[in-house]
Amino acid sequence: MTAFASDRAPRGSESRTLKLDAAIASATFDRPTLVMDLDLVEDNFRALERGLGDAAIHYAVKANPTPQVIERLASIGCRFDAASRGEIELCLSMGARPEHVSFGNTIKRATDIAFAYRAGITLFAADAEAELEKIAENAPGASVYLRVIVEPSGADWPLTRKFGCAASRVQALLSLARDLGLDARGLSFHVGSQTRHAAMWTHTLDQVARVWDEARAAGHGLDLINIGGGFPAFHGEHVDPLETYARDVMAEVRARFGGVDVMAEPGRGMVADAGAIASEILLVSRKSEDDLHRWVYLDVGRFSGLAETEGEAIRYQFETALDGEESGPCILAGPSCDSVDVLYEKRPVSLPLSLRAGDRVVIRNCGAYTSSYASVGFNGFPPLDVMVI
Ligand SMILES: *Cc1c(COP(=O)(O)O)cnc(C)c1O
Repeated sequence: MTAFASDRAPRGSESRTLKLDAAIASATFDRPTLVMDLDLVEDNFRALERGLGDAAIHYAVKANPTPQVIERLASIGCRFDAASRGEIELCLSMGARPEHVSFGNTIKRATDIAFAYRAGITLFAADAEAELEKIAENAPGASVYLRVIVEPSGADWPLTRKFGCAASRVQALLSLARDLGLDARGLSFHVGSQTRHAAMWTHTLDQVARVWDEARAAGHGLDLINIGGGFPAFHGEHVDPLETYARDVMAEVRARFGGVDVMAEPGRGMVADAGAIASEILLVSRKSEDDLHRWVYLDVGRFSGLAETEGEAIRYQFETALDGEESGPCILAGPSCDSVDVLYEKRPVSLPLSLRAGDRVVIRNCGAYTSSYASVGFNGFPPLDVMVI
C-alpha cells in the first residue's frame, strides 16, 4: 500500500506558521491541545474580505467557537452565523452587534427564536412551512431567507439533503412568508464544506440562479443571496489561496445575481489553517510478526476532536521531529476503546519508522471542526484542550 506525499504541508507554508510552531515547540502539554494563532484567523478574514469585496462575511461559529476567536473576529468587523441560543449568546458576549448575527440554522427551537428576537437579531433561515410559522410567531416581522437544496458539488464534506427545500417549493414558501408578515429577502445554499476549487461552484450557482430568476419573475422582490460556506483549507490536495478563491467565486456570483446584497458564511476557510494540534504517540505496535502495517496510536482520535476523519473524508497533515528519516506507511488510530476510532487505514499515513511512544506529533490545519466536535469525555479522555496565542 502506498502512503501519500501530501501528508506533509505544502512548501512555502512554513513562514505563516512560525509563531504557531514556536509556541508548540516551547510548550509541554499533558493532553492533546489545539493551539490557535489569532493573527492567522485575522489574516484569513482579511483575505476573504479582499476576495469577497462588498459581501457581508458571517463567520460560521460552529467551525470553532473558542471565545477569543469570536472576540478577535468581532473586533475587526466580522459578522456571525449562529445556529443556537448558545452560539448567539457567545457572539453577543464577545462584542458582536445583534444586527450582525444571523440565525442560520433551519431547525430552531421556538424559545431560541424568541430569545434571538428579543436580543435584536433580525435575520433567520428557514426551509419549511412549520419553521416559517415558528419564526412569524416568535420573531414577528423578521427577515428570512430560504435555504434551497442543491446537488452535491463534489465537496469533501457534503452538507446537502438534510437541509434546504426543493426548488419546486420555493415560490410557495416565499408567498407563505409574506402572508405571515415576514420580510422574505432571498435564498441561501451551501455548496458543501471543503469545496476545493472555485470552478466546482458553477453548477450549484446555476441551480440557485434558476430558482432565483423564477421567483423574481413571479414578483418576489428578492434582494439577498447567501452563498454559505465551502471555502477550503489545505488538507493534502492543492487549493488556491483564499483571496483568489473568494474572488473567483464572487465573480461567478455577480455574473448570475447582479448587484444584490451578498452574504457568505465561511467556517473552515476562516480558521482551519490557523490551528494545529499538539498530540503524543501512546503506542506503536504490530498485530503479528508478519503484520505489514504498523499501528500508531495517538492520544487524540475520532472522539476527542478528529471527527472529520469519518470515512477518511478530511485528511490532516502530520509532522514529527524525526521527519526526513526513513519512513513507512502506518495505520493511525486514536486512544479510545471503540473500534471506529481509527483515523486512516484505507489510505495509510507515512510516518518515520523510529517513532516511539512519548514522541510528539503535530497535526496541521486543525483549527476547524475539531474542538467543537470533541466528546465531553468518552472513556474518560478529556475533550480537546484549546490554547490561544
Ligand atoms: C457549517 C455551515 C457553514 C460553514 O461551512 P464551511 O464549509 O466550514 O465554510 C456555513 N453555513 C452554514 C449554514 C453551515 O451550516
